[in-house]
Amino acid sequence: MLTVKSVHSYYESIHALKGVSLHVLKGEIVTLVGANGAGKSTLVKTICGFLRPSRGEIFFDNRPIHILPVEKIVELGIAVVPEGRQIFASLPVEVNLEMGAFLYRKDREYVQKMKEEMFERFPILRKRRNQLAGTLSGGEQQMLAIARALMSKPKLVILDEPSMGLAPLVVKEVFTIIQELRAEGKTILLIEQNARAALKIADRGYVLETGKVVLEGTGKALLEHSEVQRAYLGRG
Ligand code: ATP
Repeated sequence: MLTVKSVHSYYESIHALKGVSLHVLKGEIVTLVGANGAGKSTLVKTICGFLRPSRGEIFFDNRPIHILPVEKIVELGIAVVPEGRQIFASLPVEVNLEMGAFLYRKDREYVQKMKEEMFERFPILRKRRNQLAGTLSGGEQQMLAIARALMSKPKLVILDEPSMGLAPLVVKEVFTIIQELRAEGKTILLIEQNARAALKIADRGYVLETGKVVLEGTGKALLEHSEVQRAYLGRG
C-alpha cells in the first residue's frame, strides 16, 4: 500500500533522512521505532507532503505521491495523527472534527454522518462537543486527534507518538483503538517511543537511527533482538 524508496529529506543543510526505504502492506500495523532526533517525524512529514524529499520516491497504492500537494495525499486516503496532537485548542471539539473533513466541507451530509460515527466511537467527544478542545484532558485530546484523522475515511492512518504524555491507562486505551482500527480494515503506520507496546501489536517494524533504517523485522523478532532490547527496551 505504501512504499518509501531511498528517500532523502533536508531541513536546509540538515540531512534528516538519508535514504530511507520501507513499506507497509494493506491491513498491517507497522511500527517505526527510534530515539529522539532519529528522523521519525521527518519521515511522517515527508510521506504526508509537508516536506518534499530531495531524492527518492514514495508510492501509495502504486501512485507516486512525493510530487503531490498535501490535500491530494489526504484525498488518496492517508491521514495523520500528528505528534503533540495539534488540535485547535481555541475551537470547540465539534469544529475540530469538521476540520478533519475539510475536503468534504461542502457535503454537509457526509460531515454530519462522519461526526455521528466519531461520537459513537468516542462517546466522550459527544459529551464534550461544544467544549473548547484546549480544555480537554490529554487523553481526550488524543481521542479527538484520532477522530479528526478518521473524518476523511483514510485507508492508511499514520500516528506520530500517540502515547506521548499520557497516563498508562489511557495509553492502553489508545493501543486498543489502534488494534480496533486495523480490525476494521485500516492500515496503520505507528511511530512510537514506547517501543515495547508498539512492537507487541505490530506485524512488522523498522528501527530508525540518525536518518537511516538500521533494522527491520516482525514485531516479535524485533522485541527479541538484543540491540533493540538494549537500546529501546531498557534491557542490558
Ligand atoms: P522526536 O521523537 O524527538 O520527534 P524524531 O525521530 O521524530 O524525534 P525528527 O523530528 O524527525 O526526529 O528530527 C530529525 C532531525 O532533523 C533532527 O536532527 C532534528 O534536529 C532535525 N529537525 C527536525 N525538525 C527540524 C526543523 N524544523 N528544522 C531544522 N531541523 C529539524
